[in-house]
Amino acid sequence: MLFMRDKLGRKINYMRISVTDRCNLFCLYCKKEKLSFKPPEEILRYEEILRVARIAISLGISKIRITGGEPLVRKGITGFVSELSSLPGLEDISLTTNGILLAEFAKPLYKAGLKRINVSLDTLKREKFKDITGEDEFGNVWKGIENVLAAGMNPVKINVVLLKGINEDEAADFVALTKDERITVRFIELMPLGIQRENNRKLFVSLDEVLKNLKNIYEMKVYDSGNNLGPATYYRVKNCGLVGFIGSISGCFCGDCNRLRLTASGYLKPCLWSDKAVNIKEILRAGAPDAEIAEILRKAIREKPAEREINKKVSFPMSEAGG
Ligand code: SAM
Repeated sequence: MLFMRDKLGRKINYMRISVTDRCNLFCLYCKKEKLSFKPPEEILRYEEILRVARIAISLGISKIRITGGEPLVRKGITGFVSELSSLPGLEDISLTTNGILLAEFAKPLYKAGLKRINVSLDTLKREKFKDITGEDEFGNVWKGIENVLAAGMNPVKINVVLLKGINEDEAADFVALTKDERITVRFIELMPLGIQRENNRKLFVSLDEVLKNLKNIYEMKVYDSGNNLGPATYYRVKNCGLVGFIGSISGCFCGDCNRLRLTASGYLKPCLWSDKAVNIKEILRAGAPDAEIAEILRKAIREKPAEREINKKVSFPMSEAGG
């Protein structure tokens, strides 16, 4: 099978596409000013994203995740998913959402060809949800998860960012959710990124600690499916299901990184932790042929750093780069 390799020989077959920098939540570790979203003309049009995706697939990208901002706030998202999923050669298409609009979108997205959804949910308590996100939407997110399962998309992965003194006490409750085998929970370490980077350092919780505490409650065994399941280390929990740990800070997955990101405003970013980015929007809009676009994709891959630089001040917010 065709695929691209970067200068270190890493196989690059996965692209995360942020379709909007807009979000309907203002999470305390991610939020930006409400009025600082980019004007529509600075955001890639769907046909531009589809063109980049088609060319990327021809070079060996086989997995695409749609993210944002909040992807479900962008008008026409179902039609976009339908067109994306019909591109020949794309083997896996998934979406990451905060779930607020999922109750309404679950079935249409499934029909449009989406088979996997990750929902970001940091608390199981309604009041705390409001404190973390700024909105009283817990009930809608939960309804969304139920509708995703009812639509036949399972397992649903729930991604939880643990925050010191805020929701770290809920880890065991999240594990209990996996008693429903259709739900997989993944804990993610908070990264010092975006305008909240300094505050995020104070809220950081090490997943080593979390795992140690959970092992006092649950019997957990490392689970290796034999497939490459990405950066998470999974555990099978006795009488429950699968729980993943993504130690974004305490671990380093750079050696296996297979990702390229396309930001909402059309930058190809070879690493979340770097400001290195190649502007593909200008080239697209200047009427470049496919071969030139392909060269820009190759250039972005050539520029992929060997390792992330955790202490660097990265100016791309997560909402733009696509978490
Ligand atoms: N709106 C969608 C959602 O909520 O899933 C997609 C975009 S959001 C930026 C993607 C994920 O990034 C969410 O799970 C969010 O919790 C996570 N995230 C945002 N800022 C983060 C940070 N500084 N460290 C770790 N995860 C972060």
